[in-house]
Amino acid sequence: MDYRTLLGAREDWWDRAACRGIDVDVFYPLPNDGAAAERALRVCGRCPIRAKCRQYAVSNREAYGIWGGMTERQRAALVRRRFADSQRR
Ligand code: SF4
Repeated sequence: MDYRTLLGAREDWWDRAACRGIDVDVFYPLPNDGAAAERALRVCGRCPIRAKCRQYAVSNREAYGIWGGMTERQRAALVRRRFADSQRR
């Protein structure tokens, strides 16, 4: 089952996902398996909808997995930076 099927996503942009047809388990590597994470990130690296996917994951507070070319830790850091920036304004 790929991400689109898992999510029941109806938006057309998912049609262009580089991970279409790839089992979603690939995007949930074990925490210490850097090689597996790299494999998933390489798929994201050639994905034309990476920015939309990342925004989707951040907006929906996806706490786990690789989305939009970012690991969960990278997304959490992004959210913290955005929050810190919003507090400075
Ligand atoms: S950025 Fe990665 S996880 Fe998101 S749709 Fe593209 S390939 Fe799939």
